[in-house]
Amino acid sequence: MIPVLDSIKEILQSKKLKASSARLLLLKKLSEPQGHYSAEDLFQSLKDSLPGLSLATVYKNLEDLRAVGILRMVALPDQVRQYEWERGDHLHLVEGKSLTDLEDSDLFDEIKNLIAQKIGSGFEIENIDVQVFGRKKTTASHLSTIEK
Ligand SMILES: [Zn+2]
Repeated sequence: MIPVLDSIKEILQSKKLKASSARLLLLKKLSEPQGHYSAEDLFQSLKDSLPGLSLATVYKNLEDLRAVGILRMVALPDQVRQYEWERGDHLHLVEGKSLTDLEDSDLFDEIKNLIAQKIGSGFEIENIDVQVFGRKKTTASHLSTIEK
């Protein structure tokens, strides 16, 4: 669940971070649905709203917000890092540079059970990161698969 702007200030306070204009703007932008953004994307979309904002400031703030658990960083092979709200376990469907969230708590429970079965209780899972790479099928190829 992504909080509304009013509670963003409270979240920052609870993490003992100052509610600076840069942090509030970054978190507001990241609260958009399906919001996964690189530091460069965020800098480009916010620089006009906050004169004096630098790319270095964006990087620094994203890292501060990640370090206290407000944001999660998504690192994909051969791509720049993207950031999103930390909202618990979910899958990423990856198509090119586009990330789509897919929430499925049953799947994550199964993964946890499978790991417990395989290696016992000697490993504490902190976070599960699943990325599924592919591309959307076109309607035509989807139909031909069904017709076979
Ligand atoms: Zn995500």
